[in-house]
Amino acid sequence: MKIIDIITGDKPSLSMEVFPPKTNDKFESVKTATEEIAKLSPSFMSVTYGAGGGTSDYTVSIAENIQKNFGVPALAHLSCITSTKERVADQLSQLKKAGIENILALRGDIPEGMTMDRLDYHYASELITEIAATGDFCIGGACYPESHPQSENSFEDIRHLKEKADCGCQFFTTQMFFDNNVLYNFIYRAREAGIKVPIVAGIMPVTNPKSIKRICAINNSLLPQRFVRIVDKFGYDSEKMKQAGIAYATEQIIDLFANGINAVHVYTMNKPDVAEAIMKNISSIIG
Ligand code: FAD
Repeated sequence: MKIIDIITGDKPSLSMEVFPPKTNDKFESVKTATEEIAKLSPSFMSVTYGAGGGTSDYTVSIAENIQKNFGVPALAHLSCITSTKERVADQLSQLKKAGIENILALRGDIPEGMTMDRLDYHYASELITEIAATGDFCIGGACYPESHPQSENSFEDIRHLKEKADCGCQFFTTQMFFDNNVLYNFIYRAREAGIKVPIVAGIMPVTNPKSIKRICAINNSLLPQRFVRIVDKFGYDSEKMKQAGIAYATEQIIDLFANGINAVHVYTMNKPDVAEAIMKNISSIIG
């Protein structure tokens, strides 16, 4: 099933992101975790591609397993900055063969020391154009309510986002954010710039305060004082932090649905218990 049909349907959509193992020996535990999350029947599941130093080798097989054996539509991420035209063509044919209909097309982070000349791809829009030309996939892209860290400014960032939509990107998923007003503001600016495609709100339930401070520093994400206080108070105890992080994310999600956002994507960090708790907290709302 195409993601665009899910997120534009009458029912609110709650989807989940998982990531492949970082090393081959972790494959079985990651497979089990992704299957536990699939059993919760999210609207769809996305599988990352080589993010955060992880391997990209298992993206297709994990996406295929979720879809074929658990009936959950899969969204396979694909990044291009370190790839070649031949490799991308091969990956598209693998995805098609596996029955995957949805791709989140990304540039990927630029590895340290890499220069941008003599590359096959420079920006996600080039990958989007190429995938769109096949006519085989529903294409999503990434967007950044607080701007991409490398963008010149927020206006340029939105201008490049519009280019991605114009190249064939049918929806966007946001980077995590912890203050919903940041998203509402961003959507207003995106619509004003003529971006009409649906925007899926990405929510990260924070259970590990150390990693979140590091990730937010890299992404330029604002941590609201209300959230910082929770981390300061409960961050020393994993169980307390987990409960508080789930409650904070739940509150964000309810506010998003209440304000007309129809599609929310949860960054599960491969934690089935966290995914399940969130699903339970809003079960009647997404009914
Ligand atoms: P782009 O859309 O190409 O944008 C990158 C930067 O270039 C932006 O600053 C943009 O404003 C600018 N830009 C775009 N076009 C132009 C142009 N023509 N001229 C000048 N500047 C331009 N990474 C992974 O490796 N694997 C994953 O699975 C993954 N999943 C992600 C999922 C989501 C929802 C998000 C938000 C991010 C994900 N990332 C992933 C991270 C992503 O790869 C990085 O943020 C990367 O640095 C940018 O990728 P992009 O597709 O947004 O790039």
